[in-house]
Amino acid sequence: MSDTLQRFMFDSSPVRGELVEIAEAWQQVQERRTYPRAVAIVLGEMMAAASLLSANLKFNGAIIMQIHGDGPVQLLVVECDSALRLRATAKLAPDPQIADDASLRDLVNLHGQGRFAITLDPADKLPGQQAYQGIVSLDGDSVATVIENYMLRSEQLDTRLWLAADDKVTRGLLLQKLPDEGGTPSPQADNDRWEHVVTLASTLRTDEMLSTDIMTLLNRLYWEEQVRVFEPRHPSFHCGCSREKVGNMLKMLGQEEIASALADLGGLDIDCDFCGQQYAFDAVDCAQLFTTDTLADAVQPPGQQQH
Ligand SMILES: [Zn+2]
Repeated sequence: MSDTLQRFMFDSSPVRGELVEIAEAWQQVQERRTYPRAVAIVLGEMMAAASLLSANLKFNGAIIMQIHGDGPVQLLVVECDSALRLRATAKLAPDPQIADDASLRDLVNLHGQGRFAITLDPADKLPGQQAYQGIVSLDGDSVATVIENYMLRSEQLDTRLWLAADDKVTRGLLLQKLPDEGGTPSPQADNDRWEHVVTLASTLRTDEMLSTDIMTLLNRLYWEEQVRVFEPRHPSFHCGCSREKVGNMLKMLGQEEIASALADLGGLDIDCDFCGQQYAFDAVDCAQLFTTDTLADAVQPPGQQQH
């Protein structure tokens, strides 16, 4: 089974849909870090959700989905770019006590201070152009409802999501009502059709989603509908970290900050939270960060300096 995202349309309903299953890329995330079971479920569901939202991006860039928690989980991050390349990580509080069946609230919204953020980050930003970020309170008891509420508020789009993850696979279904562009003969009939396809999808059980491939799920739900499927796409794991980006981050901390860290530690070892890649910067590397005009020169790994 390879990781697949399948878009589809209904011939007689103003609704677009997508199904995704991610096993291989999800394994690659978990090979790098072992997460408590309840955390893995939420992170897996966010991977499915991010790929479903990315598949509809109108620009070349990435979606970054974050949950900032106030409980045993401090941060959950999933990034997915327009080529459906994903990376994900979670940051836990020190010594977290996490039950296997902990709810989203238990994990990240114990005191009602949890936040959900979506950032749309274009790859080729114009000078001065910023990434767009929307942040809302964590409104909902599952990743799916949090995103549904976000989409309704920020995009005014009726979107429904069904997500399921375990440590083997994560699957998701997205349905979105197409905006009424004024030419609809009967908005009421369209609404009824939307309700109908949503009602069918609402019969999906979590165990069924975890054990059934997406094409079987599609046929099972909509065998009575005329469904048109598009060319499948394939999500994959990819981390875009680099020595240059780590160097940039260090440079932004400022010369004083770096000097004091160097005085304490002798050298800086920075591990990528997403893929575990290690980047070492000794005193000479750090000095170069602040003396070299072109950052690319400063971040050459030792022994590869160009003269
Ligand atoms: Zn990395």
